[in-house]
Amino acid sequence: MTDDLERRFDDLWSSLRTIGLSAESGGYRRFAWTAVDDQLRRWFREQALSRDLSYKVDRNGNQWAWLGVPGEGGIVTGSHLDSVPDGGAYDGPLGIVSAFLAVDELRARDRPVTRPVAIVNFADEEGARFGVACVGSRLLTGVLAPHAARALTDGQGVTLEEAMTSAGVDIASLGRDDPLLGHIGAFVELHIEQGRALDDVDAPVGVATGIWPHGRWLFAFTGEANHAGTTRLADRRDPMLPFALTVLSARSRSAMAGALATFGRVRVVPNATNGIASRVDGWLDLRASDEGTLATLVQAITDDAVSAAATNGVTATVTCESSTPAVVFDEELAARVQAALGGVPALSTGAGHDAGILSAHVPAAMLFVRNRSGVSHSPAEQADPADLVAGVRALAAVLAELACQ
Ligand SMILES: [Zn+2]
Repeated sequence: MTDDLERRFDDLWSSLRTIGLSAESGGYRRFAWTAVDDQLRRWFREQALSRDLSYKVDRNGNQWAWLGVPGEGGIVTGSHLDSVPDGGAYDGPLGIVSAFLAVDELRARDRPVTRPVAIVNFADEEGARFGVACVGSRLLTGVLAPHAARALTDGQGVTLEEAMTSAGVDIASLGRDDPLLGHIGAFVELHIEQGRALDDVDAPVGVATGIWPHGRWLFAFTGEANHAGTTRLADRRDPMLPFALTVLSARSRSAMAGALATFGRVRVVPNATNGIASRVDGWLDLRASDEGTLATLVQAITDDAVSAAATNGVTATVTCESSTPAVVFDEELAARVQAALGGVPALSTGAGHDAGILSAHVPAAMLFVRNRSGVSHSPAEQADPADLVAGVRALAAVLAELACQ
């Protein structure tokens, strides 16, 4: 084990730090298949080539860096480089920077690496641009159909097909990739913790047990545009009212169920200060500890939306844009990870990850690194230098356990 790991972490982290950083917000705007994403992908390729790893882009636009010849039983680590709008620095990139450094550590050890090892950058994990999360891993595993992916459209009307084509991906090749899945013996994703559980127990690193089921629904309310100064309240068909009531319903019902409901994105048409809106679209992100609770909650919030719309002369339609079942990570793999780390805290999370998508197809595990602020999807994400290094060391120990036999 080298002792200058903190400095090497700093160097590698700095090489990525300014890409997509907004001077205005202090957050990152790293959206899939944009010029910024292209810079990130070039960075990944350079890191792979500078280490003599074999660099490949798979059929779905995910980037891979292999140590050894890709083959059955490969040990894969990595995460994503894209971000939510004004996201924090660590969500995603920490898993990839740590992966490159952990592979460096692995190669510096005396024990021979006996299995292929790969680092992956999954494309479009956050779904910030096209609305569906984990597109790269969903396509790889066949969870998302290629025709559905191609038709996804961003806020400017650009389809995913157009965006991927202009980034040089052969759109005809999208789809489940069985040969590549067959090369993944285990996938271990290191990620910044998106809560304060590790801080509470004073531990730098933890292991995931599972991910709550979750989904995204579009609530569309259609009324009638009219003048704010001349239309009597009684004559209005204002979609903002049932939308507001639906936000409150989601909050109170999720509080009662111990779930997490969020309306974080709204589109108002025509979005004028002196006009009654003709349409309000709100996106509900809902997460619960089990699938029954999630289904019951969505139905109840939908019923509330429909009835609030009817009361206000507005129509409401609810469309599920994506849903992800509960994830329980592979117990045998989790036990080996725990053994390699000498026992660390185990925690579940409400946040979705590529590891969650992969877990239905290959053994998958996650390591979390302590986030002092507990805040994520915001520039306030925070990690101590010592914890970042502890994360790399933990990942290297796990890779050694899995790939050196
Ligand atoms: Zn992430």
